[in-house]
Amino acid sequence: MSELSTKCLIIGSGPAGYTAGIYTSRANLSPIMVDGRQPGGQLITTTDVENFPGYPEGIAGPQMMEDFRAQALRFGLKTVSGEVSEVDFSKRPFIVTINGGSQYIMADTIIIATGATAKYLGLPDEQKYMGLGVSACATCDGFFYRNRPVAVVGGGDTACEEAEYLSHLASKVYMIVRKDYLRASKYMQKRVLENDKIEVLFNTNTLSLFGENGLEGAHLIRHRGSEMEEEFDIAIDGFFLAIGHTPNTAIFGDALTLDEQGYIVTQGKSTATNIAGVFAAGDVADPSYQQAISAAGSGCRAALDAERFLMLNDN
Ligand code: NDP
Repeated sequence: MSELSTKCLIIGSGPAGYTAGIYTSRANLSPIMVDGRQPGGQLITTTDVENFPGYPEGIAGPQMMEDFRAQALRFGLKTVSGEVSEVDFSKRPFIVTINGGSQYIMADTIIIATGATAKYLGLPDEQKYMGLGVSACATCDGFFYRNRPVAVVGGGDTACEEAEYLSHLASKVYMIVRKDYLRASKYMQKRVLENDKIEVLFNTNTLSLFGENGLEGAHLIRHRGSEMEEEFDIAIDGFFLAIGHTPNTAIFGDALTLDEQGYIVTQGKSTATNIAGVFAAGDVADPSYQQAISAAGSGCRAALDAERFLMLNDN
């Protein structure tokens, strides 16, 4: 068991975490970052990132996160491998337990950048075709499906937005909706239902995906369990999940104020949480945008907020 202490502990190693690492290192806060279960975050499972400014030719997600990491380490960020298993935010310095007690870190400020995890259906084929047709981010990967048929799973606002977005790129967009209605706002429903390129398949679930060299189609079932039940296939090259995200906040218990979806609530335009000295950046506090660039921007803001907090609180 070992103990470390820092002026700023960053939890999470995606774009928000590393950007916070760059800024807090350069501000001489001697930050420590806990890497988490999937170092590099969601971009590690992305293929090419083409919408992050500064990469005119695009860049592979894992390479981009290597670059973020190298830049942060260059300025002195220290990283600790492992997962946060417990936090004590009751007084400062805060105490964070790593891997059930193998290590303790004492921190004057904390930046939470633990991200959100896209929900999947749980089909074995989703893993099989991950990066080969299966994606949970149309904004990230839609461009690769220009003039090709795709499907979006889900009937909420995200699914409608993604279907709409993809309809400008793909040759055809199926929406696979398990109920007989869309849960999305009336406005988004109208846009989807009036879009000639989008075909909504109501009362439909996905049974499996197929394809020899990458994804070629989905095997679907309509009206499951009723007299009208039928199975059928659609030919698609892309299968986009849009059934929601789960913010990674479970380890914080009830210490932090969360919204009804479980995202951390921040105060006004700042990254401050309800606990003085604890800040939140990136997808874990952002149900709306969830982009690498917006996460990186809020990582910067959290670092500046932490620095100001330390100045004002005489640390
Ligand atoms: P939602 O929870 O609103 O919708 C999820 C959708 O996925 C629902 O249609 C749900 O079906 C479906 N779904 C969930 N699990 C499964 C499953 N296992 N199999 C098949 N379908 C499934 O999530 P969103 O990400 O769409 O939105 C999250 C929040 O963010 C919402 O409050 C939304 O309004 C908001 N948002 C706002 C936007 C805007 O204002 N521009 C843009 C995007 C999101 P069912 O209805 O049957 O449960």
